Amino acid sequence: MATARDTPAPACPCGSGKPLAACCGPCLAGEATAPTAEALMRSRYTAYVLGDEPYLLATWHPATRPTALQLDAEPRPRWLGLAVKRHEAQDADHALVEFVARYKVNGRAFKLHETSRFVREDGRWFYLDGDVAG
Ligand SMILES: [Zn+2]
Repeated sequence: MATARDTPAPACPCGSGKPLAACCGPCLAGEATAPTAEALMRSRYTAYVLGDEPYLLATWHPATRPTALQLDAEPRPRWLGLAVKRHEAQDADHALVEFVARYKVNGRAFKLHETSRFVREDGRWFYLDGDVAG
């Protein structure tokens, strides 16, 4: 992914306010690993926005990973924004991240409010599963 210095860098879809190339971009490109569960969660949201199914599967823990995600299934959600509410380290290798992701399907607005569990193995964070709030 080449970026010219004289053009404004695209903002990262995760809403960090940083350019994609200085935020989730290197994780999605396989050039970096997410240093925290929150960073992994943000990069996975960005992968949903960009339709990067291989990254989503690669960062999903093998114990709970689906075989495919069918991101192209219609109607496709249009992701509108992410708000991270809480990042709680349970111990060195387990963390919770609570977030609200907003999206639209067929013009209707929805919210996904989830508390996700993450686990770190061999220095890499993985998404394990999550509880969706009412
Ligand atoms: Zn980002």
